[in-house]
Amino acid sequence: MTTEHAEIERLLKRAHEELFDEADAARQQWCGDAVHLRGIVEFSNVCSRNCLYCGLRRDNAALPRYTMSVEEVLAVVAEAEKEGVRTIVLQSGENDGEQVKQLAQMVFAVKREFDAAVTLCVGAKPTDYYYVWAEAGADRYLLKHEAATPELYNKFHPDSRIEERLAALARLRALGYQVGTGCIIGLPGQTLRDLAGDILLARDLDVDMAAFGPFVPHPDTPLCLADPGDLALSLRVVAVARLVLGPVHIPATTSFDAIEPDGRERALRCGANVIMANLTPARYRRLYDIYPSDRLANSIERVKLILERLNRPLAEDQGHSLKRPVERQLCREPQKV
Ligand code: SF4
Repeated sequence: MTTEHAEIERLLKRAHEELFDEADAARQQWCGDAVHLRGIVEFSNVCSRNCLYCGLRRDNAALPRYTMSVEEVLAVVAEAEKEGVRTIVLQSGENDGEQVKQLAQMVFAVKREFDAAVTLCVGAKPTDYYYVWAEAGADRYLLKHEAATPELYNKFHPDSRIEERLAALARLRALGYQVGTGCIIGLPGQTLRDLAGDILLARDLDVDMAAFGPFVPHPDTPLCLADPGDLALSLRVVAVARLVLGPVHIPATTSFDAIEPDGRERALRCGANVIMANLTPARYRRLYDIYPSDRLANSIERVKLILERLNRPLAEDQGHSLKRPVERQLCREPQKV
């Protein structure tokens, strides 16, 4: 363990109120009071991986699978744009059979039709894919490392390696994406030292976004009997991440509300500056069953109520990187893939 790990561990043990106040002040300093709303479209629940904690894992044969068409995606984005959503997150399982061209067309269509940034969250892919999606106009890529400690990562991800994800993040950055990483808090066997490593990894990767959310056990997975992540610890991780990472976008992830109904609100009080609303049509949304939650309740209206209670405004801009200027805007229609 390095001195830095010990220092982060010490921060993670600090008294809540003092830590949360300091993190909230740091959030105010780096990000201001406006909260960025990201609209998530879970366009496919097909996944080739078998992560032990996730309801989308390929061995969950009970789950019907779906993939939305470009037209379906455009329809929900059109509604969201009217409500002030300026970033669209296109999210799916990590599908080895994914049609690279179809997602490129989806990205291009959203960028052509709407004044919105596009974030992709579709897992680790060949570099050629990242290139095609960047040319189509994708601005950002979220690829959570999930667990920085290799033994922990390997225990819960039987068919991928942490080194591959870190290499993928480096390639994404080289291609001009704004990149994000993050981890799950409360996986069985995880220690404060592991979490310190997760925060330090996000710092060393110099990411633009960092998402930390509590573990929520799913009944149809090998971790069905495990305890959920602890809310207080999860909030402390968000707070310490804000103090260590400075000017990055930190979401109050939806998993906070799966632990406690006001979980996201509390995360926004201790360092977070981003919130998500789910735009996925109801008939698909119940099938994007990563973990048990009140999926239908995560609406734009609910997000606005949370912001009202916090007395914080909705950001009007697209909420690009707080660290570096954004230059690339290709938006080229995919020709050959
Ligand atoms: Fe697939 Fe992601 Fe779930 Fe793993 S965490 S099973 S890659 S959707």
